[in-house]
Formats: sequence, structure tokens, C-alpha cells
Amino acid sequence: MMIVILSFDDGRCDTYFNSFRIIKKYNLTASVHITTGFIDNTFKTDEFGVGMKPLTISEIKEMNEYGIDISSHGDKHVMESSDYFISKNKIISWVSKNSVGFSVPNSSASKTQIDEFLKNTKYDPLYVRVGRNLKCKSFLNKARYVVYKILKFQLAFNKFNKINLNTNNDKYFIKSCVIKSHTRAKSVINFIKKYHSNDYTFVLMLHSVCDDPSNQWEWSTKNFDALCSSLKRMSDNKEIVVTNLFDNYGGRE
Ligand SMILES: [Zn+2]
Repeated sequence: MMIVILSFDDGRCDTYFNSFRIIKKYNLTASVHITTGFIDNTFKTDEFGVGMKPLTISEIKEMNEYGIDISSHGDKHVMESSDYFISKNKIISWVSKNSVGFSVPNSSASKTQIDEFLKNTKYDPLYVRVGRNLKCKSFLNKARYVVYKILKFQLAFNKFNKINLNTNNDKYFIKSCVIKSHTRAKSVINFIKKYHSNDYTFVLMLHSVCDDPSNQWEWSTKNFDALCSSLKRMSDNKEIVVTNLFDNYGGRE
């Protein structure tokens, strides 16, 4: 049975106001990877949107208590061992947990770069979520991406994302399907329906969820609600399992 995981990067305020509200509505869960320096205002950036506000620590605590996985996205949005430990220590001082996972700020990191990072941290992160499979950069996959973006062909979406399914147990190189503003909830659902009976782990990478998307990293509230509604139905029908990365990779054991 397919395992489906929602993950949110960066730590924008809408992760609480919009995403978490809808996740709760459907009784689902997710992994939220926070840039801790953005949260406590020690790292100032416009990278997440000009004037974008971060999640507050009390919102982070509330999401953790609900069962959301609060994990690291670096302290200063980099993949570096010392920065990772700063971020981890902040998270474990904010919420009650002893270990965290990590989502790579530069989602195109190679296996070699991840191995180097892990060696330097002595394999401290519980898991590492990367972006898309690097094979998505092939000419053929770039063409599929454009075909989907313009024409919304399901076949192009399926072929492009098939290589972003995780088939092995490598918890340090978890590939994901990147959701961008042009992605349709229906395409994601059709993709899940196509592969749901296989033992894949399918991780979705989201950023902002808002009513009026104005850049590629923002997904509409309507799309996200439609996705969650379908995930809930499929999960109730025991067709898929919806969990978060922390629980899936043994964080609660
Ligand atoms: Zn990021």
C-alpha cells in the first residue's frame, strides 16, 4: 500500500493559518521543516517572499502537540553540519522531541553532498528529504515538465513523477514531488490512484498555501483542500496510508 506524506518547507506563517487548518479539518498529518533562524528572527531573508512572516513558536508548539512532525530546514537555510545542530537544538528547546529530520534547503543536492553532510553530523538527522530525483533534469523529463505545465497532460505528470517515488528504505535520500502553483490537485490524486496498491512512499513538497497564489511556490487553498479531501477518503478506505516523515522513519519508537 502506498504511503503518502505531505511536507512543508521554510516555516512561513501560512503553514499554520492555511495548511494546518485544512490538515486538521481532514484529520491528517504532515512534516513541517522550519528554517529556525527565520522563526526567531536571527536570520533575515526575503527568499521566502518579501515581507513574509514566519511561524511563531507557539504555533509550532501547537502543531507539534497535534502530531505534526516539526523538523529542520537549517538555521540559515543551508546544508551544513554546524548550522544543522543550531537548528536542531532550537527545535528541541521549542517542542518536546529528541531527534529531528532534515529537509535539504537546496533541493538539488546530490547523494555525494548528502553523504558528506551526514558524515559531518555523524548521521544525526533521523531522515533527509531531498527534492526531486536528479534524473528529472534529463532532456526528456524537462520536456514532460513543460508539457504538463502548459497542457496538463496526466501522462506527462505520471512519467515525470514516477521517478520521484521512493521504493527503497534509504531514509537519507527521500525524493519528493514538488508542488508548484501550476500543479493541479486532480493530477496528484490521479497519480496516487494509479500507484496506490504498490509499496511506494510518495512525498509531496509544498511551500505556501494561500487563496491567491502570486508566485510558483504558492498553491491555492482550493487545490490543497481538494487534495486533503481525497487523501482522507482514500485513507479511510484503506487504499493508502497518510503519515509524516518522523513517524514513518521510526521517530516515535
Ligand atoms: Zn527552503
